[in-house]
Amino acid sequence: MNTVSRRFEDFCSAAIHNVYDEGSLHSHAIPIYASSTFVFDSAEQGMNRFSGTEPGYIYSRFANPTTAAAEKLIASLEAFGLNGGDGNPLTLKALLHASGQGALSTLCFSLLKNGDMVLTNTALYGGTHEFFAYLLSRSGIETRFTDLADLNAVDQALDQYPQIRLIHIESPTNPLMGCTDIEAICKRAAARGIKVSIDNTFATPYLQQPFAFGVDFVYHSTTKFLNGHGTAIGGALVGKDLDFMQTTAVKTYKLLGANSNAFDAFLLINGIKTLPLRMHQHSANAARVATWLDAHPAVAKVNYNGLKTHPDYALSIRQMRHPGAVLSFELRGGIAAGKQFINRLRMCTRAVSLGTVDTLISHPASMSHAIMKPEERLKAGITDGLIRMSVGIEAAEDILADLEQALSGLADQAA
Ligand SMILES: *Cc1c(COP(=O)(O)O)cnc(C)c1O
Repeated sequence: MNTVSRRFEDFCSAAIHNVYDEGSLHSHAIPIYASSTFVFDSAEQGMNRFSGTEPGYIYSRFANPTTAAAEKLIASLEAFGLNGGDGNPLTLKALLHASGQGALSTLCFSLLKNGDMVLTNTALYGGTHEFFAYLLSRSGIETRFTDLADLNAVDQALDQYPQIRLIHIESPTNPLMGCTDIEAICKRAAARGIKVSIDNTFATPYLQQPFAFGVDFVYHSTTKFLNGHGTAIGGALVGKDLDFMQTTAVKTYKLLGANSNAFDAFLLINGIKTLPLRMHQHSANAARVATWLDAHPAVAKVNYNGLKTHPDYALSIRQMRHPGAVLSFELRGGIAAGKQFINRLRMCTRAVSLGTVDTLISHPASMSHAIMKPEERLKAGITDGLIRMSVGIEAAEDILADLEQALSGLADQAA
């Protein structure tokens, strides 16, 4: 049933129905095409598929029907309700990857070459920071890390480094929930013919649609909210230049071997069906937890872009449907309090990652950002006592009760 061409008034319906199975058996759920290779009827057909004159699958590192269904679904949601500028609905192309890092690899290695430069934010997901600082630099592609919220600093960097080819945004950022004015960055980039990419993992297309503000590429760690259940690592690169996506990006993707697989794509599609419902509950719970933590005596500071005191509150409201479900907070007791707090949790899950139905709590200084030098960590605002929380969809009362008992223990020990 080809439902991709159908237009829905509501995102919830699109998330459920924009799944296209190319098979003819009328399977209700998307089949898992666990096949490494695909059969040709004749030598001529094989030749035509390779040359692209006949559509059809060849080999699952290149493309696979289950991963293709997930790609179309994600592309349709990033484009949901947007126009392409020519009066027609926006059409996007997505490539499903083995991980978010894989999607970042295809983006950078298809777009950039020796001598080019990337301009990005100081605060970034740890793996993204290391990818730029360690891997890209070894290929002769340098990265400038600056505060993208400071538009004067952005202008200055663009003037000083004409070799900048890509501005990479992460908004909201990990883990202080700082936001970047996507539209302002895109205007500056467009004036100079520079591409803009954004890591939309924290927001998902339900909370933020960066193509509306002019970005060229969106990428996701689908491992997080899109999958939603913590069952598979994955990534997606989404682009609006269909020619570039179908030629250069696909070629790079094939050569890197960064493809996903049918089973993970099946899990992802299953997860996305409930994305709007989950994001709704995640977001409502996060707002409650942030307000509650903000008033707690053991907590020195809460970083949540949905709090009116957050510097990017107004920007979040402007470019997001809701500020989201990830937050961090600083315990008064520093690193010792951080460890005690984490160890006292009874319901919330002690783990890195985010975006699963259960509440996940981690300690960036010793986990996700441990690889960074302490001074770089501090520059990104990550202190030793910072706790990161991905608020789940449990009953808010149960999340608050667990936090309360863990925090009150700290107070007891401090007394
Ligand atoms: C997890 C994450 C990534 C990396 O994704 P993987 O799927 O682990 O490769 C990138 N960016 C953000 C914001 C993330 O949370």
